[in-house]
Amino acid sequence: MTLPLPRPGILEIAPYVGGKSHAPGGARVIKLSSNESALGPSPAAIEAYQAQAAKLHRYPDGHANALREAIAEMQELEVARLVCGAGSDELIGLLVHAYAGEGDEVLYSEHGFLMYKIYAQSAGAVPVAAPERQLTADVDALLARVTPRTRLVFIANPNNPTGSMISAGEMARLRQGLPEHVLLVIDAAYAEYVTDANYDPGTGLVNAGENTVMLRTFSKAYGLPALRIGWGYVPPAVADVLNRIRSPFNLSSAAIAAGAAAMRDQDHLRKAVAHNTLWRGRLTESLRAMGLRVRDSEGNFVLAEFPFAGPHSAASVNAFLLSRGIIVREVGNYGLPHCLRITVGLKEENEALLAALKTALA
Ligand SMILES: *Cc1c(COP(=O)(O)O)cnc(C)c1O
Repeated sequence: MTLPLPRPGILEIAPYVGGKSHAPGGARVIKLSSNESALGPSPAAIEAYQAQAAKLHRYPDGHANALREAIAEMQELEVARLVCGAGSDELIGLLVHAYAGEGDEVLYSEHGFLMYKIYAQSAGAVPVAAPERQLTADVDALLARVTPRTRLVFIANPNNPTGSMISAGEMARLRQGLPEHVLLVIDAAYAEYVTDANYDPGTGLVNAGENTVMLRTFSKAYGLPALRIGWGYVPPAVADVLNRIRSPFNLSSAAIAAGAAAMRDQDHLRKAVAHNTLWRGRLTESLRAMGLRVRDSEGNFVLAEFPFAGPHSAASVNAFLLSRGIIVREVGNYGLPHCLRITVGLKEENEALLAALKTALA
């Protein structure tokens, strides 16, 4: 019997593994493993979601107009340049499949978000990782790895799982150093959380040319990962391409309605960001006081380095935390087996984490 076979390379893809949500024994858990918002979504978004229940027999608006108009208005962007996706993940995949094929190269930085590699492999393209410096994307290293086959460069800014960012000036230098035909994708999934004044999510670079894209999401600061809502701010030619290949109803009516309401509730977003800024700082300082190396993070998580073997290693501490029902993220698949990524939670959750870590490291 001859079985149907996928294209070459598909079976070499290591599937993405999300953050755990259960601890052994089924105890109540504190989940700090998926960079979810501590405060959750705007109440207005939940209300808009529920209101959609009466209209489930209707197809959604295939242009997601209510959502794109809310984004355009609140972010002061041109609506025609906005394309929405079922999470920004979908947009990453569509961009790779549209612009890279067999033998083309997709470039990203060493500890960059894993989906860039996965989608490159799924398109038959060659994933190329450039080394980082101090767990931060290195513009010169990225530029040094550009070849005639390079089609796309992905950079998460700030990056997950490191929390590091590059400045607006460095991003502009990256764009300037890339050949014009290379599409630069700035994945600004954590933009709302950034407090560094040298940051720019990339809007200006999108406006300045035909070859830069900015991706954003409602999964992080807006607290709606269950609904799968991402958006891209893109040049007109890229919008045309994405609108040809995306599925015609890629966002559900519930996602469109809840996303629009969340975008219009900037007061709620400000609360979420203020909570994050406060606790990101406290977690960073407390972990440093325990002797761990923690770099400044611009996201809603911190990456702690455990430069120890034995019971104080990242793996042992992770096992200890799990036994207490506290779930953080191991990041060995990002090439960081000595680190744990910890999402900023509610006050009580953060305090429980710090107390358990103190015990683990005693
Ligand atoms: C979470 C995340 C995303 C994608 O989130 P979606 O839920 O697909 O919108 C994209 N990039 C980075 C760096 C992320 O951490």
